[in-house]
Amino acid sequence: MTIDWHQLRNPGLVPGSLDPAAAVERAAQLGLDRWRDLPRDQMPPWEDYSEVEDVYGVLKSVPPIVAPYEVDALRDQLAQVCAGKAFLLQGGDCAETFIDNTEAHLLGLARTILQMAVVLTYGASMPVVKVGRVAGQYTKPRSSATDSLGLPSYRGDMINSLEKTPEARRADPQRMIRAYANAAAAMNMLRAYLSGGIADLRAVHHWNKDFVRQSPAGERYEAIGREIDRALAFMDACGVDDDALHTVTMYASHEALALEYDRALTRVNNDRAFGLSGHFLWVGERTRRLDGAHIDFISRLANPIGVKIGPSTSPDWALEACEKLNPDNIPGKLTLISRMGNQKIRDVLPTIVAKVHAAGRQVIWQCDPMHGNTHESSNGYKTRDFDRVVDEVLGFFEVHRSTGTHPGGIHIELTGEDVTECVGGAQALDDKDLEQRYETACDPRLNTQQSLELAFLVAEMLRH
Ligand code: PEP
Ligand code: MN
Repeated sequence: MTIDWHQLRNPGLVPGSLDPAAAVERAAQLGLDRWRDLPRDQMPPWEDYSEVEDVYGVLKSVPPIVAPYEVDALRDQLAQVCAGKAFLLQGGDCAETFIDNTEAHLLGLARTILQMAVVLTYGASMPVVKVGRVAGQYTKPRSSATDSLGLPSYRGDMINSLEKTPEARRADPQRMIRAYANAAAAMNMLRAYLSGGIADLRAVHHWNKDFVRQSPAGERYEAIGREIDRALAFMDACGVDDDALHTVTMYASHEALALEYDRALTRVNNDRAFGLSGHFLWVGERTRRLDGAHIDFISRLANPIGVKIGPSTSPDWALEACEKLNPDNIPGKLTLISRMGNQKIRDVLPTIVAKVHAAGRQVIWQCDPMHGNTHESSNGYKTRDFDRVVDEVLGFFEVHRSTGTHPGGIHIELTGEDVTECVGGAQALDDKDLEQRYETACDPRLNTQQSLELAFLVAEMLRH
């Protein structure tokens, strides 16, 4: 993350420049607490709401995780995606955990995203906007209140613990403070490391060459690898050496689910409400009711926001969501993240895209090929098949080609570690292999190799 200190010193952009009483009044005018009176799905099973209020009191005055000008910068870049001139790559853990919030884990994520981005940039001949599911992805919606052992379901480290005891599964509001501290530390590390050596384009390309050399499917990807080589040699020969080749901005995103957390970290600035718990916040498939708390809350933010759309989404619903979440039709403001499953996307997505497009709504179309493609393996693991993931992305490209709209981006659950959670890919992981390194706290993630392979395949789709 490159910080523009001049902008930070501009008093108009400093959060908290309102006096506290005026800030409260402005927040009320902006409707930032309307959600409290609305139906709320996936409410954490708090036992004592006064504890939640205490934590809220702590978090409402802490320094935010991200800055308003960064949020605006991301929205401007996403406007380019919306206009068909850039591509959005978003990825990271299904659920971040406190224990895995380490230098190695974050570095693995940053590296993998950068490696994917280089390949996609080349494939698309467009800038790639990089967004991590990171520095705040600590809450999970659950389809059942209890798990297979009869314990309260794990709802993400911000709410309870993965450990399998009734005590550990108690919803503990203090965990929101730990989540904040972990998110702040993660964002701090990412900013620092990404403005230094790890973002160097040549180093990233070098890692990609290692991948091509080592992948069993390397031959297929060699051509693109060699072309990038040549492009870099050409730039070298021309003496091109821009800052952009050495530093990278990676933005942070998470699902806005624990509304007390996201609301507490919202700051009113120049009469606009910035959710400063992350740059980009989305509402998930299970909490997207249009008259509900989550949609109301994010609709009031200046941030770029997203909403997941599953296979039951109707074209009318999608249009109404656009009107509610982006009433001023600002390009880059709203991303619709389809997660239909590879068997449904070609049937369900076209009429949605057609309706929204015909109404002139500005929207980014992004494909999440993970959440509609989950199944249980023969040996009882929640897994995903790489081929189905690739096929959903392919379907997404086909739909947009036929409607003449821009396939704006992908949204992936991945990790920069060699886990074995999804089957398939060039390593040909099968059900038996899942036992080796199945480490996710929630949904299965693509490992480093599978993620890079996906990037090469998407680069091919972008070129054709
Ligand atoms: C997620 O992104 O981890 C998630 C829960 O997705 P969805 O809301 O699409 O099911
Ligand atoms: Mn998930």
